[in-house]
Amino acid sequence: MKVLVIGGGAREHALCRSLSQDPAVTELHCAPGNAGIARVAALHPVDQLDGAAVTALAQELGAGLVVVGPEAPLVAGVADPLRAAGIPVFGPSAAAAQLEGSKAFAKDVMAGAGVPTARSYVCTTEQEAAEALDAFGAPYVVKDDGLAAGKGVVVTEDRAAALEHAKGCERVVIEEYLDGPEVSLFAITDGTTVLPLVPAQDFKRALDGDQGPNTGGMGAYTPLPWAPEGLVEEVLETVLQPTVDELRRRGTPFSGLLYAGLALTSRGTRVVEFNARFGDPETQVVLARLRTPLAGVLLAAANGTLGELEALRWDEGAAVTVVMASKGYPANPRTGDPIEGLDEAEADGTAFVLHAGTRSGAEGEVLTAGGRVLSVTATGADLAEARAKAYAGLSKISFKGAQHRTDIAARAAQ
Ligand code: AMP
Repeated sequence: MKVLVIGGGAREHALCRSLSQDPAVTELHCAPGNAGIARVAALHPVDQLDGAAVTALAQELGAGLVVVGPEAPLVAGVADPLRAAGIPVFGPSAAAAQLEGSKAFAKDVMAGAGVPTARSYVCTTEQEAAEALDAFGAPYVVKDDGLAAGKGVVVTEDRAAALEHAKGCERVVIEEYLDGPEVSLFAITDGTTVLPLVPAQDFKRALDGDQGPNTGGMGAYTPLPWAPEGLVEEVLETVLQPTVDELRRRGTPFSGLLYAGLALTSRGTRVVEFNARFGDPETQVVLARLRTPLAGVLLAAANGTLGELEALRWDEGAAVTVVMASKGYPANPRTGDPIEGLDEAEADGTAFVLHAGTRSGAEGEVLTAGGRVLSVTATGADLAEARAKAYAGLSKISFKGAQHRTDIAARAAQ
């Protein structure tokens, strides 16, 4: 099978790494990719948001499966012309990707499906927003309705700041605050059958102790030793399956990766958000534990034959990933610095490096090219071992102004 992966972050590197280890994959391509992905896949330049260009590339390569990684191309509808051309594609249609592309749409689907989530109002005027804020009280949660690359959500005690954010958006969802730890649960679905993966937790804040600004994610781990028994079954039954069934009922079947961001509150499990694709950096740790070859699973989702697949096999151990980010990330990341120690980090085989914002320089050196630069991932018998290996690998890597959190999975590993 020839596989084409669309995207160029650490999530796509993790996908490419797993796909490259699948004996069924004879050729692996990625567009546009990054310097790390170039080691396992042939790279091609493409405008990820241009469905016609992506389809032409897939046809030229003779791809038997296209995997669309990021949300932007999915919401832009890149999967649709691929499907129309008869190419198996892992990723939802534009219509189904609205589950991530519009918070209001997601709320409507959840209401229709009876899925537990925060109570909310959709507001389009300052007056409505003010009333909604007062109805719920502090802490205030204000979400831009559309895709905002992780910058659309404000959670604050400050009513004025909450109202200011609402004013800056055309349409906002204002909702009740959910307390309790967060869990990311991914599920692979073909629109009917739902196959949950293992739960993971990510770290959204930039600094140790969950301080500093929100980021795309600074690290992740799996499994969650503190999670209640039966969590996955409960979420499958109350969240994932009803959501997939509701979308199918509406005539917009969702196939691809359904990501449930959950809060385990004192009043029960609630959905914080849905995403329509693999999460970054949780994908790095979830795939590190998956033993079933990946391509066949993604192809079964694309072809609607997930129900015939054997149960997924998992490594019993743990995985931890730690993100190294540029100086100034997330506000103002500095780029263009050479990265040292990449080979050393992987030399003894205990950790592996997944590239995010990197590119190859003129002399074959690897340069920083984005906010999140790379993530160092390791597996181990337990979280403590995986964590130690990931940080040992990370300690070999350096670039100017590099920053990372030192407490990824620390509490869970105790
Ligand atoms: P979202 O893009 O909806 O996932 O929001 C980003 C982050 O904001 C989430 O990961 C949570 O940490 C936080 N958040 C979102 N909604 C809520 C909520 N209702 N209560 C508390 N925190 C929230």
